Formats: sequence, structure tokens, C-alpha cells
Amino acid sequence: MKPRVQVKVSDLTRYLMCPRLVYFGAKEHHEGMAKGKERGFIESILLKELAFNLHKFYGERKEEDSEPEPESESETKTEEERAKRIIEDIVDGVERIYKEELKGVEKDYFEEVKEDFIRNLSMSTNMENDEWLEKVRTENELFELENAYGYEREHAMFSEKLSMSGSVDKLIRTEEEVIPCMIKTGKCPEYSVWKSDRVQLAAYAMLIEEELGFETTVKRGFVEYIRNAEFRETQIRRRDRALALQILKRVKRIKGGVFPDKGGNAPCDKCVFAERCETRKTLLSTLFGK
Ligand code: SF4
Repeated sequence: MKPRVQVKVSDLTRYLMCPRLVYFGAKEHHEGMAKGKERGFIESILLKELAFNLHKFYGERKEEDSEPEPESESETKTEEERAKRIIEDIVDGVERIYKEELKGVEKDYFEEVKEDFIRNLSMSTNMENDEWLEKVRTENELFELENAYGYEREHAMFSEKLSMSGSVDKLIRTEEEVIPCMIKTGKCPEYSVWKSDRVQLAAYAMLIEEELGFETTVKRGFVEYIRNAEFRETQIRRRDRALALQILKRVKRIKGGVFPDKGGNAPCDKCVFAERCETRKTLLSTLFGK
């Protein structure tokens, strides 16, 4: 019997960037660091870890709220130092947590990126210049939910029926609902969430429902755009589910060996498969005059 094609939720978002990324990704394992993109990769990991620990900033604000003393210059300075200490504390554990992903990174290089990251973030947490820390410490529904119910980190799921697996960054369970949350380290849209994030959340929703049984309906999710400290809620709509299923089918075909057309906004200039993609295109043109 032919083995069933296994799809990861991340394949669906990759498909939306460019279907050919799914094709080449299935043939060549290219997770992790692309050459020349090490700094960005490490920074993304550091940002992600920060997002898993935002309660440390938020908890601090709650304590401060109970002592409404006026802020002097030295108090503001202490506040900045405290924020810097929290950041240092969070990034200190990163090397151990992401041991596999950071394999091959020189210790000195990692330390250099880490120090730059702390410096830049500490500068941006100077509240006169930037609102990052202020936004992180402002009450919002996601923090309220995390405070009240906690969350399960990187909850892994697999559905035999869908032949799909995925690991959602945070999973919050309240008495009434189950809420998936994703951490994104890239650009934040002006409003709402990106289409690819909606599709990804819909895919997680279907995996959660498979795992917990048909009575469970995941109605909403959150996307944390950590770079901008924006925490966006989004409803998981029928059309998002339908699109996720449609892409799932296409991804299965591609992983089964069908070479797809390139995506409309394919990021070819920074693609690790650019050379192979060009060779494949030339080969097809020679064979079929395409
Ligand atoms: S080079 Fe462009 S078309 Fe080819 S896989 Fe990469 S992004 Fe897609």
C-alpha cells in the first residue's frame, strides 16, 4: 500500500509564500538556518523566547500598580535596568532550550548576536523613546487569559484522518474554550492578522478538534507579533477552514511529486532553493518548451 503523505501545518504557510518551497522542502530537509541568514534566525529565536516569558514584564507592572508613587528620574532608570535584567535572564536560557536549532553556531557569534539583541531591546525599552515595553505591560485579553489559565507551550498534535501534524506555540484551555496562540517574529500587519496566519490558525483549530473530539469547536485564536508587541485576536471562520483544507490537498499533491507553478509573490531573491528552482525550470523548458 502506498504510504500516506504527511503534511505539517508549516507546509501550508510555506505554500502561501510559494508552492515550490513545499516541493523543494519535501526533497531536501532545509529547516533551520539558511546560509547568510544566521543573525536573523538567532534573533527570531530570541524574540520567540521573549514571547514565552512576557508575563515576567506584565507581572511586574501589576505589582507596581498597587503602589502609585510618582516616578522620579532614578526610578525610571531602575525600571529600565529591571527590564534589561528580565531580558538578560530570558535570553540566557535560549542556548539550552534551542540546542538542536543552534547546532553549528559558533559560541562567540551567538554571544555577539545575543548581546546586540539585549542592547537593542534595552534601548527600545527606554519608554521615552519607544512604546515596546509599555505595550507589553499594558493589560490585554491575551495576558488576562494567560494569567488566569496559563498555557501549554508548544502543544504537538497529529491527525491520522487529515494526515497532518503541527505544534502550536501556546494552547490556552478555559472552562468554555480552547484557544490556540501563535508567536510571530516577522512584520505585523496594520490591522488584524495576515492571511497565512489565519490559515495556520484554522489548521491548528482542526487538529485541536480532532484531538479533543467533535464537540469541541475552536472559535478564535491569537497572534502575537512580538517585534511590535501587538497581540491580535482573530475569529476562526468557515472560509479560513475551507482555505486550509484546500491548501492541504494541494500540498499533499506537491509532496506526492507534482511540481507546482511558482507563487505570485514568491520571495525568490532570498530563497535557498533559487539555484535548484532555476535548473528545474530550464530542464522543463527544454523538455516541454514551457
Ligand atoms: S526560487 Fe522563487 S519560485 Fe523557486 S522555490 Fe524559491 S521562492 Fe519559489
